[in-house]
Amino acid sequence: MELSIVIPTYNERDNVVAIASRIQASLPAGTGYEILFVDDSSDDTPEILKQLDKKDSHVRWFHRSNRRGLAQAVAEGIEASDSEYIIVMDADLQHPPEILPLIVERLRQYDVVIPSRFIPGGSDGGLNGWRKLVSWVARKLANLAIRRLRDISDATSGYFGLRRAVVDHIRLEPVGWKILLEILVKGKYRTVHELPYSFAVRDQGVSKMCLREQWNYLRHVARLLWTSPQDMRFILFCLIGAIGVVVNMKLLNFFINLGLWGDLQASCMASFLAMVHNFLLNNWLTWRDRSLAPGSLIKRFPPYLMVSCLGILVTGLTAKGFTLLGWDIYAGQFAGIVAAACWSFTLNNRWVWLLPAPSCEPAKLVVTQESVLEKVIDETVL
Ligand code: UDP
Ligand code: MG
Repeated sequence: MELSIVIPTYNERDNVVAIASRIQASLPAGTGYEILFVDDSSDDTPEILKQLDKKDSHVRWFHRSNRRGLAQAVAEGIEASDSEYIIVMDADLQHPPEILPLIVERLRQYDVVIPSRFIPGGSDGGLNGWRKLVSWVARKLANLAIRRLRDISDATSGYFGLRRAVVDHIRLEPVGWKILLEILVKGKYRTVHELPYSFAVRDQGVSKMCLREQWNYLRHVARLLWTSPQDMRFILFCLIGAIGVVVNMKLLNFFINLGLWGDLQASCMASFLAMVHNFLLNNWLTWRDRSLAPGSLIKRFPPYLMVSCLGILVTGLTAKGFTLLGWDIYAGQFAGIVAAACWSFTLNNRWVWLLPAPSCEPAKLVVTQESVLEKVIDETVL
């Protein structure tokens, strides 16, 4: 079988027959496909699926009696299928089945194919204003937190296709709804292709999105972040920097009370020791996967010190720039600290803690986006 279409259903009695027939009408005759409904319903959807299964040889389904979330349902559906390509979509016809042939076509070239609401030619007209805002915040948060998602416009889509190799031999343990996030963070793939589509208005039944699922989303992103050393680095670096400020202040207080040095000497000594403290913590935590080489601690300290001193210069210049423009110096200092943190992090990552080749970062991910859907359909299908 070439294609499995995995569809999670929760009380979709009025939609399952319609989606099965629209899928059949959309796929070219002779396509080897199955529709696998993963059903968590508490209404009579299972009865309707049983009838559908009898009538339509492409339909398969199973019921889960203890519901454990939408994403987990999809993960079980993927596991229960064995075709080369997998497409996941909702049952409520908000995801148009008419672009299925195009997704399959693109899967021959790309590892992951995501119909996107947010590239030119796409639209999320099927959501109301509030849901649009929540969805925007959720997407931006994931894009910002997880580097692999940065160039993907619709990483929270419930409509996507992938080659089986992407999820073979990985453990999917999603929390909540967004299985695509889990796959994009843990999966093995090199190319992602997005194509525009219009998210339709739900015709029958009601949405099951609720506040608890938004909380689960935050838990899911935090968990994915925690398991990704690359993405944790910047957060650890900033946290250590913040702890370093407290250490610096405490040391300054200690040296002043000691009464051995003047203010300037006490301040410089406190800053130097705080830098040593930050260096050791960064070596031990932030770049722990690159800090094993013998003698590396001694070798890395001078360039680290240099980067940190340049950071102080960046902060000073930014604060000065603000005052020259007539703006508040505290705002300038804060902007400078943010700029210096980014600057120092980048230099530390690419220079101070750089490992000799082969590169410590994974191979580059290529994300492409299709321009105008109608045009592409013309070229590929007609
Ligand atoms: N769904 C599910 N289990 C759940 C919640 C939803 O299988 O716990 C299914 C639902 O039947 C639909 C899809 O997931 O096929 C998307 O759900 P919904 O339309 O309620 O979400 P929305 O489109 O409003 O985000
Ligand atoms: Mg829906």
